[in-house]
Amino acid sequence: MDRRGLMLVLSSPSGAGKTTIARRVLTEDAGIAASISHTTRARRPGEVDGKDYHFVDKKTFTQMRDERAFLEWALVFDNFYGTTRAPVDEALAQGRDVLFDVDWQGAESLRKEAATDVVSVFVLPPTAMALEERLKTRAQDSDDVVVRRMAGASNEIQHWTEYDDVLVNFDLDQSVAAVHAVLAAERLKRTRLTGLDGFVQGLLTEL
Ligand code: 5GP
Repeated sequence: MDRRGLMLVLSSPSGAGKTTIARRVLTEDAGIAASISHTTRARRPGEVDGKDYHFVDKKTFTQMRDERAFLEWALVFDNFYGTTRAPVDEALAQGRDVLFDVDWQGAESLRKEAATDVVSVFVLPPTAMALEERLKTRAQDSDDVVVRRMAGASNEIQHWTEYDDVLVNFDLDQSVAAVHAVLAAERLKRTRLTGLDGFVQGLLTEL
């Protein structure tokens, strides 16, 4: 059955487990692929260029932005992050779903650009302490970055009411299952089932 792909937008404060949830969903569901953002942030240990992000310098980012290559872009913690337009357009038209790990600004822009394609999910940490622990034990960022990300968490959380669905990440397996459930329901949305008209017409002629 032909259908238009959907844009699954995941946001959360840093350290709430969003990236872990996203990775699991991407591994377990072959029908959805990650949108790989461009960023000017330094690569963390273990991160792979072209897989986690496209790591670019400020000049390249600004040039791409000026050429309108980005569907959305934002300044987050002093670094630029952006989502390129072309791969998303292509995936949606081919009925493939795309997962976006973006902040609230990115989610807001994507809703404006593609309201009917976007399904947005906000991930909350179970406690403030859990958030801080995750940021510290991740040990990939310096102490001052951790402090700034904790401060940024409160700002990010203020935007939870703008999302379609909200989940509290008490348990990773349950959170992953919840995202799979959202995807399953959204894939049945009548407006996305572009092949349905022909299918129903076919059914009717056989009755
Ligand atoms: P991190 O530096 O921890 O990978 O990401 C910092 C924040 O930037 C996260 O909230 C992440 O979701 C967000 N982010 C990553 N890529 C993009 C993007 O392309 N656009 C926007 N608006 N935010 C992004």
